[in-house]
Amino acid sequence: MVCYARQSNLLKPSGGISGVSLSCIATPAGFLFGDNTMKPCNTCLADKPETEFYIYAHRGTRRARCKLCDNAARDLRRKANLKADSAKVLAAYGVRTGVIKKEHICSNCNQEKPLHKHHEDYGKPYDVIWLCVPCHNQLHAAKRRMKHEQLS
Ligand SMILES: [Zn+2]
Ligand SMILES: [Zn+2]
Ligand SMILES: [Zn+2]
Repeated sequence: MVCYARQSNLLKPSGGISGVSLSCIATPAGFLFGDNTMKPCNTCLADKPETEFYIYAHRGTRRARCKLCDNAARDLRRKANLKADSAKVLAAYGVRTGVIKKEHICSNCNQEKPLHKHHEDYGKPYDVIWLCVPCHNQLHAAKRRMKHEQLS
């Protein structure tokens, strides 16, 4: 693809490098100049060429995490989701067969409400805590905050 913007010289990559072969990538947000600039990955901290970072199509900017780290994170997320899904299926089965006793009172706010089954550990599908929807959401929000604080 030819980048008309660069041809007509309306846009220049930051730093205005001349005589270096640059590639333009069209994104919905406009053209993104790809040069041989190195940038550090915020996860593995390695310096890598910009082309080793995926592009946010809607913003037209590169991600802060390199492709390798991005793919690794995606795999981890997929595995975690699979584990959570199978725990939910097993727990629903546990309720049907009576292995898990169905509760009607939220174990956090003690109110009688429609309840969710919460897993502290997806490796123990029959260990469930019964929580109403607001309490359940609150718990997960708190967990996300804790995780974030540990990372930063
Ligand atoms: Zn990386
Ligand atoms: Zn509650
Ligand atoms: Zn939960």
